[in-house]
Amino acid sequence: MPNIKILPETLTNKIAAGEVVQRPSSVVKELIENSIDAGATEINVIIKNGGRSLIQVVDNGSGMDKDDLLLAFERYATSKIYTEKDLYNIKTLGFRGEALASIASVSMVEAISGIKGEEEAHRLEVVGGTFKKIEPCPNIGGTSISVKNLFFNVPARRKFLKSAEVEFRHIIGIFRKFTLSFPELMFTLVHNEREIYILHAENLLDRIGNLFSKDYVDNLIEVNDGNEVFSITGYIGNLNLLRNRRGEQFWFVNGRYIVNRTLNNAVLGAYSPLISGEEYPFYCLKLSIEPFQVDVNVHPSKMEIKFKDEYNIYNQIKNILAKYVNKLREKLPGFDYIPITDFYKKEKEMGKILTNGIKKESDRQGSFLEAIRKSTPDWKERARKFSEVIRREEEQPGEVGIPVFQFAKRYIITQTKSGIIIIDQHVAHERILYEEAYNSIKEKNWKSQQLLFPQVVELTYEDYSILLEILPYLEKIGFKLRDFGKNAVIVEAVPAGMRWGIESTIIKEIIDGYLENKKDEPSATKNVIASYSCKAAIKSGDKLTEEEMITLVNKLFMTNNPYFCPHGRPIIVNLTIDEIDKRFGRK
Ligand code: ADP
Ligand code: MG
Repeated sequence: MPNIKILPETLTNKIAAGEVVQRPSSVVKELIENSIDAGATEINVIIKNGGRSLIQVVDNGSGMDKDDLLLAFERYATSKIYTEKDLYNIKTLGFRGEALASIASVSMVEAISGIKGEEEAHRLEVVGGTFKKIEPCPNIGGTSISVKNLFFNVPARRKFLKSAEVEFRHIIGIFRKFTLSFPELMFTLVHNEREIYILHAENLLDRIGNLFSKDYVDNLIEVNDGNEVFSITGYIGNLNLLRNRRGEQFWFVNGRYIVNRTLNNAVLGAYSPLISGEEYPFYCLKLSIEPFQVDVNVHPSKMEIKFKDEYNIYNQIKNILAKYVNKLREKLPGFDYIPITDFYKKEKEMGKILTNGIKKESDRQGSFLEAIRKSTPDWKERARKFSEVIRREEEQPGEVGIPVFQFAKRYIITQTKSGIIIIDQHVAHERILYEEAYNSIKEKNWKSQQLLFPQVVELTYEDYSILLEILPYLEKIGFKLRDFGKNAVIVEAVPAGMRWGIESTIIKEIIDGYLENKKDEPSATKNVIASYSCKAAIKSGDKLTEEEMITLVNKLFMTNNPYFCPHGRPIIVNLTIDEIDKRFGRK
């Protein structure tokens, strides 16, 4: 026979706490939200021992009178919504009325609250969800909530808390999000009596600078687009702020920090012409949208949302941001590089003056278009032919001058529409090989070149065992090796883009590189690719022919990220006409 009972409230609160209060940082989040909802302009967060001993948030907001203070710790007690209709038009951060009740059920809480201007405030004590006492006390003109000994009555949970440092890192993570969302408010954070952040009211740009580091400010561009019902504001970072892992991407929707794939993918989609799959740009963006377009009530922590029309949101955001990413692109060295085409070379060989060549070519195209117009009455066919001619025209070089030359045996100098670019030949080639190898693994389509004279490579026992470990990856990027008895292999083929003359040494060098990188690079695939591309690339000091330089530069600009090498070093340095003019006193 089932014996069903309604659970006592202290227990239901504890159950609810399981969802709302995961760890100290979730308490910090709920308390700061309440302070912001209460209209505070100054919020002080005091932490002890990673939040295990104390989490205190003090604000100068509206405060509560005695009755409200008592009610605040009841489940489903809220001043933020009253009717179902309100639920679809939420403008506050909180609304579920369960945070304080949940927190109080798994900790020891002391709350002090007073309304500004009134003489006295009240002090309330709740232990493990049970009311202890309430008494008058001097007014602090706001609210202070202290949460002590979190999970003291849920040993299983307390046991799962991480070290104080780890928990504090989570707290900093949450704290940062609020300070970015509300730069107009003052925030402080103190840990074990040490001041970690003191952030005065400021604008978002300064807030980013103070929160991360001052040089972020120089590497951001402002985003500001949209209308009254849909707008995006904030900042996105240039390629100097790229990281190889996530963590500096922030989206706020109507003031609330949100984790949402659609939003993140839309930004990455906009960045895609500039970054590779493993690179993450900095962004701090605020979406303002009509409340009824989003549902924030999909998870108790309120960090997830659902959009009514995900697809439309994705496209709208991606398109807006693509314009700004393009601005970033225009500031990149060499963005306006025009491939040095066969046409250019042929003209040069024939000793013609290029401008004449171009002029003649476009005259010729003019008459071409005329001829097409006359000979092709069918509209579709005509459009096709037109676009073919126009595309060819776009491929023509727009400048006359020295195409490429090598400097100091390690730099290639060439020209773009807006200036001169200097390319580091080694890292440029490294980037090309890295992306070629990466793509050949991804698309399972490697290009090998068979060696005319296969090379025997003898290895030590240790190197041989490493080779066996990385062999599958080497094969995926185009190497073909055959066993040749005791610790030796025959190299029969190498990746197509590799430079010549290193067939017998490259294997040993890759093994060395692989071992060197092993500490910092947990992914074996990436490690092999990085070691290969570094060792197989042309070196500083290698003399290059004009042909080789042109191929290298053209290929570089076909990679996903021609601006930085896989380790983050710059590949291109730009000298703009403006800069040069300035130096000559022309401006
Ligand atoms: P919710 O925020 O979802 O309403 P909470 O349990 O977090 O639920 O808080 C309950 C109520 O207590 C709030 O609706 C608010 O009226 C009051 N409250 C909580 N914290 C503060 C604060 N710092 N200042 C003023 N009022 C507060
Ligand atoms: Mg709340």
